[in-house]
Amino acid sequence: MVTVRVPAKVNVQLGVGGVRPDGYHDLANVFFAVALGDEVTATPGDGVTLTCTGPDADAVPLDDTNLAARAARLLAAHHGLPAPGVYLHIAKAIPVAGGMAGGSADGAAALLACDALWGLDTPLDTLLELAAELGSDVPFALLGGVALGRGRGEILEALPVSGTFHWVFAVADGGLSTPAVFRECDRLREESGTGATIEDVPTPDADPELLAALADGDPVALAAALSNDLQAAAVSLRPSLADTLRAGTEAGALAALVSGSGPTCAFLAKDADSAAHIAAALRASGTCRTAHATHGPVPGAQVVSAPRP
Ligand code: ATP
Repeated sequence: MVTVRVPAKVNVQLGVGGVRPDGYHDLANVFFAVALGDEVTATPGDGVTLTCTGPDADAVPLDDTNLAARAARLLAAHHGLPAPGVYLHIAKAIPVAGGMAGGSADGAAALLACDALWGLDTPLDTLLELAAELGSDVPFALLGGVALGRGRGEILEALPVSGTFHWVFAVADGGLSTPAVFRECDRLREESGTGATIEDVPTPDADPELLAALADGDPVALAAALSNDLQAAAVSLRPSLADTLRAGTEAGALAALVSGSGPTCAFLAKDADSAAHIAAALRASGTCRTAHATHGPVPGAQVVSAPRP
């Protein structure tokens, strides 16, 4: 039996370029791994089977579309294993369809767990390539820390960061579909007259002030530099998110933003005590289902228990 712990992510910058002819957007995506995470346990089994526990477990598909199951099959195919056998259990703490890349995290965790269970010793570079095949947010869940993602987000460069930052995540009832939020972002750009194509929108790049704040470990400077080009679209689709963002700010957050495509909202706190206070205030505010205080950056997917050799 092998258990892998894997972090969720928040985008401290999510710059969205114009829509490309292939339908994708170029992104300047600064991923930040937080301690709030899932655990995926791999046990020998017949075929690829899956169970999931946690508050959102009912929303997680247990068929072949689950990213953990897809990861197991992809790794087996890569190594030419004729009949992969693994039972995967996901202990899910990351909100589902919450803009924190929970499915991608489970895909990364399953790659690592199956690799250890099957004794394959796949080099990290190869795991990162397989991860990119599974989805653009999967490689970062393997890498962790803080990283700049370019292209669709899958071309990663680790970034220097000092110290620990304290975060609160307010979990909404129900998810938001990532493609729907991108479509709404395009629609809002068309509506405002700026246009939504690569001719209309400058290619986004990492914000130097944000990178300096991370390298300096300065939460006040990071708070001033946080940005998410999908935030207006997420709030347009779910107007109640404005109330959640306001409740966290009123409770003393240095900054509030929608996490990725939402609907989870992220709040940067000045320290751990402030984060605990903001989380309690958000839970009491009635503007979210629950709220978690956590911290980061933390490493990517890691084996936390495995059989003795
Ligand atoms: P992102 O931030 O990468 O856009 P997200 O956090 O908004 O993603 P996920 O939790 O990854 O969203 O889930 C999106 C959809 O993916 C779910 O609605 C579900 O149908 C599907 N899915 C596939 N595998 C998983 C998994 N292991 N955990 C959760 N959802 C999964």
